Amino acid sequence: MGARILFSLDIDGTLEIGDPAGPITLTQVRELINRGCIVGSASDRVIAEQRTMWEKHGIPVHFVAQKHRLDETRSNFQHLDRYIHIGDTEVDKRYAEMHGFEFFYPQEFCSIA
Ligand SMILES: [Mg+2]
Repeated sequence: MGARILFSLDIDGTLEIGDPAGPITLTQVRELINRGCIVGSASDRVIAEQRTMWEKHGIPVHFVAQKHRLDETRSNFQHLDRYIHIGDTEVDKRYAEMHGFEFFYPQEFCSIA
């Protein structure tokens, strides 16, 4: 088994189903899950809304979170090799770095995955 990686995905401006739409497709999200990565969303949207969104698209994510509480996600999934947050704003970058996540913009996705 390869490196165990957690991907925390912002929604708006990051995912194709965001508002505004971003560059990461649901197919790419499914591929991460199929590869054995821990995958979920971390957004300003309320938790219930994020759950409903993933259910609507039939994607079994491992977590939904508020982006300012990425520390909770990290403590819920301990001892992984990498913790990555992908988002489209400086706010994403700040929270990611504050909570010990690597940060990437969505346009960089192909170079990390
Ligand atoms: Mg965003």
